Amino acid sequence: MDNSETAISFSRQGRAIAKPVIVDLMARALANPDLLSLAAGFTDNAVLPRELVGRFAAEITRECGADEALQYGQNQGRQRLRELSCAAIATHPGERAELFDAQAMFVTNGSQQALYLAVQALCDPGDIVLVEEPSYFVCLEMLKGLGLRPIGIPCDAEGGIDPAGLAARLKELEAAGERSKVKAIYLVSYFCNPSSRSLSMQEKRAVARTLLAAEYKIPVIEDAAYRELYFDQPHPAPSIISMPEFEPFPKLYLGTYTKPFATGLKIGYGYCTHSEWREKILCIKGHQDFGSAHFSQAIIERVLDAGLYAEHLAGIQKHYAHKAEILDSALVAGGLREAGWQWRRPEGGLIFWLRAPVGMDLAMDSAFCRRCIEQGVLYVPGNLCFPAGAPAHCARLSSGALPEAKLREAARRFVAQAAHCR
Ligand code: PMP
Repeated sequence: MDNSETAISFSRQGRAIAKPVIVDLMARALANPDLLSLAAGFTDNAVLPRELVGRFAAEITRECGADEALQYGQNQGRQRLRELSCAAIATHPGERAELFDAQAMFVTNGSQQALYLAVQALCDPGDIVLVEEPSYFVCLEMLKGLGLRPIGIPCDAEGGIDPAGLAARLKELEAAGERSKVKAIYLVSYFCNPSSRSLSMQEKRAVARTLLAAEYKIPVIEDAAYRELYFDQPHPAPSIISMPEFEPFPKLYLGTYTKPFATGLKIGYGYCTHSEWREKILCIKGHQDFGSAHFSQAIIERVLDAGLYAEHLAGIQKHYAHKAEILDSALVAGGLREAGWQWRRPEGGLIFWLRAPVGMDLAMDSAFCRRCIEQGVLYVPGNLCFPAGAPAHCARLSSGALPEAKLREAARRFVAQAAHCR
């Protein structure tokens, strides 16, 4: 820090902005190898697609004259990648392939950027985005950082949406004169970060019907970041794009190649059915970066085009199923169930959602959290995943990043603290 720095008069956003917790958690995990992180959303180095990326990177650079992948590309992303990505979504159960059109898709720097752009196009400070309780904490922080108000949809203890609760919440907002401020609903519907559960077809239908009945025809954002990371079989519910019940709504479906392929290539996408919303998103993206890394896109495109993506996925699905088994067994063996903690064993994704006995405090500044850090294990305090910052008796653990032996050791350290606090 340079003491001679002249004072700057920052914008409202510049003044309000705080360091995202995710950035801090990732930095801590990278800086201290003794600190075992069950917090950061890294994927497992062991299953990063070194061979595929190496092979196609070499192929692209050899043929660069023809391919031009080392040059800037289009703001919307590579046409062929968009076509192949649409085809990939359409392979999931219940999808109506005929609905997907590459024109409605845009490629981004991870799905995180698509989410940010979409919200920027819709919301002014003070506006409301409806979210599940619990929801993706990075999104909640992002919304708050933009001066927006994430408001929770009532959910059961495991994160299942309560349609009557949603209807009641919409009525409350109406009564408070806030209806026009409700700009979108955000759903993490496949192997949710953090609850790990997926929304059933019935739940999704109920959401659409409840919104329609209350005349909230608001944009629906479906975040499918973990959809490909199923352990045994894909989740049976189709996306909001293919469900007739969502036909009347402007829709944005978010997908990514970070978690299921190469996190470091940082390529994701949005599929937006509403042309004006999509145009605005693309204008903002044009101002921000006028196109995502062309080289990264070209590599993924070639993997898909060569028909090698499904095989890659089959390998990592098995791997992450095994990692989840290790973490689950370690928590059970440590006696966490007997101590009154509850969780469901995930059927996909990288995340466990643990509920300690009500009243226990696992928040960032709690004695439990401090002791975990002292003992060299990090987790995400669950209160960060609730729009109001409470309750504090939940924790989000990731089985994704640590190698097996360290995952067992991290679980052992975590469980030891849980026993200590009984
Ligand atoms: N949505 C969810 C639910 C996530 O967990 C993540 C990553 N942690 C993202 C979106 C963003 O991922 P990326 O930008 O790497 O695609």
